[in-house]
Amino acid sequence: MESARRPPFFRFHLSVRDVLCALGILFFLGRLQIDSIPNRLSGVKLRPPASNAKPDAQIMPVLFRSLKRREREMVELLGEFVACESPSHEKTGVDRMAVLVAMEWQRRGARVQILPQPKRGDHVRVEAWPGEGVSPGQILVLGHLDTVYPVGTLAKMPFRVSGGRAWGPGTFDMKAGLVLALFAYDVLNSLGLHPRKRVVFLWTSDEEIGSGTSRPVIEREARRRGAVLVLEPSLGREGRLKTSRKGVGHAELIVTGRAAHAGINPQDGVNAVHELALQIARVMKMNDPRRGITVQATVAAGGTASNVVPDHARAEVDIRLARQSDARAIECQLHALRPILKGARLEVQGGVNRPPLERTEAVVELFRRAQSLMSEVGLKLGEAATGGGSDGNFTGALGIPTLDGLGAVGDGAHTPREHVVIRKLPERAALLAGLLATL
Ligand SMILES: [Zn+2]
Repeated sequence: MESARRPPFFRFHLSVRDVLCALGILFFLGRLQIDSIPNRLSGVKLRPPASNAKPDAQIMPVLFRSLKRREREMVELLGEFVACESPSHEKTGVDRMAVLVAMEWQRRGARVQILPQPKRGDHVRVEAWPGEGVSPGQILVLGHLDTVYPVGTLAKMPFRVSGGRAWGPGTFDMKAGLVLALFAYDVLNSLGLHPRKRVVFLWTSDEEIGSGTSRPVIEREARRRGAVLVLEPSLGREGRLKTSRKGVGHAELIVTGRAAHAGINPQDGVNAVHELALQIARVMKMNDPRRGITVQATVAAGGTASNVVPDHARAEVDIRLARQSDARAIECQLHALRPILKGARLEVQGGVNRPPLERTEAVVELFRRAQSLMSEVGLKLGEAATGGGSDGNFTGALGIPTLDGLGAVGDGAHTPREHVVIRKLPERAALLAGLLATL
C-alpha cells in the first residue's frame, strides 16, 4: 500500500515545491519593488489613500527600514527624557520635562504650545500637521510627561542599556512613547507623507494621579472628532494593543464611633474599627467578576492604642468596571451604605472617575488597521483587555474611536524592573507613523 501510494504523493510534493519556488521569485520581485519605494517617496508629496481604501503601496516596509537606522538615536533621546525626573506631584520636574519635549518638537518645526497649569505640571500641545483640508476631524495622539517615581529614584535606578533593553524609571510608562512620536513625525516628514487629517499630540502632566487638570483639555481635543491614539505601554512580549480598559473608581469609607477604655467601660464606646470591618464585608459583596465589576478595600486604618475602643476608622476602596452602564448602580450601592452598630456614623466619598474604554466596532476597525499595517512587515499584532485605566478611557467614553497601548514593548511599569525592548522601538514608531499616514 505504501509504495502504491508513493507516486501521487510524490507528484503532490513536487507541486508544492513548485509553488514555493514561484512564491520565492514573487517575494524577491516584491522586495525589489519595495526597495525602490524610498527613492520614489523622497521629495514627493504622496497623498495617502482614502481611509476606507487599501493602501496602494505598502508604506510600512519603508517606514520601518528608515526608523531601524535611527534605533540608537531613539535610545539616546529616551536616556535624556528619563534623566529628567518628573513625578506627578513635583511641578518643577514635570515643567522641565514639558520644556524638554516642547523643544524637541520645536526643533523639528512643529507648532508647539505650552499650556501652563498653576498647581500641576504644564501640558504640551503640538500641532504637527494642519491636515490637507480634504478630511475633516483630527487625530489626537495622547501621552503623559509624568511618572510615579519620586525625585532621587535615578540615583538607585539609573538609566542604562543592557541585554537589548533600556532600563530606568518611566522608560516604559511612558517616556519611550514620547520618543516614538517624535521619530514617527520625522519619518513621515522625511518621506513627504503628510496626514490628511490634522494631527495634534497632547503631552499631559498628571495622568498618573487621575488627570485632574488634563481631562478637560483631552476632552476638548478629542471632541474634534476623528480618532485617538494613546501611547501608553503595550501589553506582553508581543506588544498587544489595548482595545478595552475597565473604568476606574475610588471611594473612601470614613467611620466615626465613640472612644472608651477597652477594659473598664467598653460598653460605653462605639467601635469604629468593628463598624468599618462590617462595612468592608458589605462592600466586598458588590464584586461581580462575571459582569467585569471588581470592588476591593485596599487601604484601612483606625484606632489609637490597643487598650482604647477606637472612635475613628477609614478605608479606601478601588472600583473597576467593564461597562459604563454599571457605574451609577455601584455608586448608588456605595452611597446607600448605612451604619450597622448603634451610635456609629458613616460617611462615603468618591465614585467612578474614569469611565471604561469599551471595545466598540470603531475601536475594532482601528485595531484591524493597525494589524494590517504590521502584517506588511510580517509582524503579528494582538489585542488585549486590561483592568488598568488611562486617558483613553475619557476619549472612548465620548464615543471617539480610541486605540490604546500603542507605546513601547517592555515590562515592569512602576517597578525597579521597568524597561523597554530596544529592537521593538523602530517597529512601534513605524506603526504610529503608518496609522497617522493612512487614517
Ligand atoms: Zn502611563
